[in-house]
Amino acid sequence: MKEVNLTEKWKQNGKIIEELIEHSGVDIRNCYQCGKCSAGCPMAFVMDVSPNRIIRMLQLGMWEEVLQSRTPWICALCATCYTRCPRDIDLPKLMDAVRVITYNKNMVDHVKNEKIFHSSFMKWLYRYGRIYELGLVLDLNLKTGNLFNDVELGLPMVLKGRLDFLPPRIKNKDLIRRMAERARQIEGGQA
Ligand code: SF4
Ligand code: SF4
Repeated sequence: MKEVNLTEKWKQNGKIIEELIEHSGVDIRNCYQCGKCSAGCPMAFVMDVSPNRIIRMLQLGMWEEVLQSRTPWICALCATCYTRCPRDIDLPKLMDAVRVITYNKNMVDHVKNEKIFHSSFMKWLYRYGRIYELGLVLDLNLKTGNLFNDVELGLPMVLKGRLDFLPPRIKNKDLIRRMAERARQIEGGQA
């Protein structure tokens, strides 16, 4: 097996490491690959790359491979890994940082649908103070070009009253709107 000099790799990948620290506060160099995070992760069974391997790939500068992985998007941010980590690595924050960087740079195709979902989610939240589920589904279908996606599921739900036909009405809508506005500012206007 080929030996890898991690210190050398870290020198080569300083930019990635700094970017991750800036977004998450997590220094991936502290991970010593014990694997406890992956062993306790409730979502590991559906991930294509285990959480500790994501960190190892980042340590090795395999940014493209990390971006192609669905793992950061599947992570439920439950923090089980964080509570188990002997090195105090905040993996949820790291996963979130990978998502933000990927999102901001519009880096991979599979993120396009997440972007559509995110902007529609924020649109309805901003407009009604709560998510208008039917509007969200229609937005997704229209913008992804899958016009009839889940129609056989959605229609019976509307008919049975499990999916509201009309947008929600709530009190203090402006308060939610202000919170959404603040989140937009924090995220640099991406919402
Ligand atoms: S538990 Fe912590 S130190 Fe161990 S592999 Fe996971 S992130 Fe790295
Ligand atoms: S935060 Fe993500 S990676 Fe960590 S245990 Fe939960 S689902 Fe797994």
